[in-house]
Formats: sequence, C-alpha cells, structure tokens
Amino acid sequence: MLDADFFRRWMNATAVSVDREADRLTALDSPIGDADHGANLQRGFTAVAASLKEEAPATPGAVLVLAGRRLISTVGGASGPLYGTLLRRTGKALGDAPEVSGADLATALRTGVDAVAKLGGAAPGDKTMLDALVPAADALGDSFEAARDAAEQGALATTPLQARKGRASYLGERSIGHQDPGATSSALLIAALADTAKDTAGGTGGNGEGGSGE
Ligand code: ADP
Ligand code: MG
Repeated sequence: MLDADFFRRWMNATAVSVDREADRLTALDSPIGDADHGANLQRGFTAVAASLKEEAPATPGAVLVLAGRRLISTVGGASGPLYGTLLRRTGKALGDAPEVSGADLATALRTGVDAVAKLGGAAPGDKTMLDALVPAADALGDSFEAARDAAEQGALATTPLQARKGRASYLGERSIGHQDPGATSSALLIAALADTAKDTAGGTGGNGEGGSGE
C-alpha cells in the first residue's frame, strides 16, 4: 500500500528531476514554444516541495491536492493549470484514505488525465502532455515500470506529430520534428513515480504491493 509519505517522496523526486532537466525542457520549448517550460516547472515543483514540507498532509489524496494547488498558483502559462488539474483531480479521486493501492492510483490517475483532456480540449496525437500521460495511465494498472516505459515512448512519439493544441500549434507544420516539452516533463513525472515505487519495493519494480497491480 502507498501512504502519504510515498506521495510526498514522489513529488520531491519530481522536483529533483525537473530541476536537473530544466535546461533540456526549456530547450525543447524553444523551437516550438516560448522557451519557458523548464523554468515554469522548476518554479512550480520547488514550491510544491516547500509546501509539502511545511504542511505535511496526512493522506495521499491531500498530498496531491496540495501539490496541484501549488502548481496552479505558482506556474503561469498553459502547463500550470494543466499539471495542477492533473494532480488535484488525481488527489481528489483518491479521497481521504490513509493508504491506497497501486490499482487505486491507476484509477485515480485516469480521472486526473481525463480532467486535463477536458480542460485543454486535447486528445492523444495532438502533441501535448497527454501523449505521455494517457499511455502511462493505461499501463499503470500493469506496473509502475510499464507506466514509465509507456510515458517515455509516448513522449518520444510526439516528435513526428504536428501540434494541434497549445502554443506549438501556431507553428502548423513547422511543429513537426520536435519533441513536445510537456510530454517530456510528463514522462519525468511518471519516471519519478516508478523510481519512488522501486525504492519502496526494494527494487522489485512492482507496484508497491509485491503484485501485478490487478
Ligand atoms: P506555455 O505554452 O504557456 O508557455 P509551457 O511552456 O509551460 O506553457 O508548457 C507547454 C506544454 O503544455 C506543451 O509542450 C504541451 O505539452 C502542454 N500543453 C499546451 N497546451 C495544451 C493543451 N491544450 N492540452 C494539453 N497540454 C497542453
Ligand atoms: Mg512555454
């Protein structure tokens, strides 16, 4: 089972990873955006880590709701409200249980991803964060490692796509040939989840329950 500490460690691991990869995320956002994605998420997840330390929410749901709220309040642009909605809605879907299963998280993440799709009006294939998040949510029912792989593959697969949503869509066909920054950062978020699960499970790569997540 996954407790509030697990979710706090996931958010902290994401903050570390976003910090490390900020320059790369911003570089990806240069040709098809406005070169701020790395800085946006760095600011957001730094604030998330600080808030979680201060407030120490007691449940998995409360950790993600607080994280989502902080992202909305600190990150401008498209990605703040979208990532904020993802975490807030995933957290809300987890309810106030003190511990949740990998399967519970997979179901909740699906709810969060659906909320992102609704807010941004995007679908897989539009060259957005959804190209990493939708396959990750689908695969999370199998295992954390499967979700990590699916998100990474999804992010890589955005390169040949033409953007249909967000700033990159203004470029039309010129958006083709560049990996989407938001799909790339979404893969970092899911990789941080898999890393956290790996640490928790003692390197089995399972879903923290020692099972298949079914
Ligand atoms: P901005 O585009 O406002 O500068 P960021 O650079 O932080 O915001 O984030 C850009 C990323 O946001 C894109 O790479 C894309 O993945 C994601 N994005 C933009 N618009 C949408 C949308 N409508 N739905 C889902 N994701 C989107
Ligand atoms: Mg940008």
